[in-house]
Amino acid sequence: MPEIQCSRCGKTAEMMTENLFLGKMEQEIKEHVCQDCWNEWNRPGGVKTMVINEYHLNLGDESARNTLKQQMRAFFKLPDASVEFKDYRT
Ligand SMILES: [Zn+2]
Repeated sequence: MPEIQCSRCGKTAEMMTENLFLGKMEQEIKEHVCQDCWNEWNRPGGVKTMVINEYHLNLGDESARNTLKQQMRAFFKLPDASVEFKDYRT
């Protein structure tokens, strides 16, 4: 099982194998994000939900999907993240 270093928490972890349904970003996320951080983003009521609510995103809109992707890059601290992630949960 290949191991990755998570860009968000810095831990070394096994690469996720489940399908994340991310299309073009799937491989990039799997190479940079550990399961725990992914769960924090993706679980019901998690960070993704927070971002959708906070920015009033209608995911039928392409611009909304792009905003969500940018926030996801920022949350996971991917190398080319172009926006700041603001945690509204605290
Ligand atoms: Zn992590």
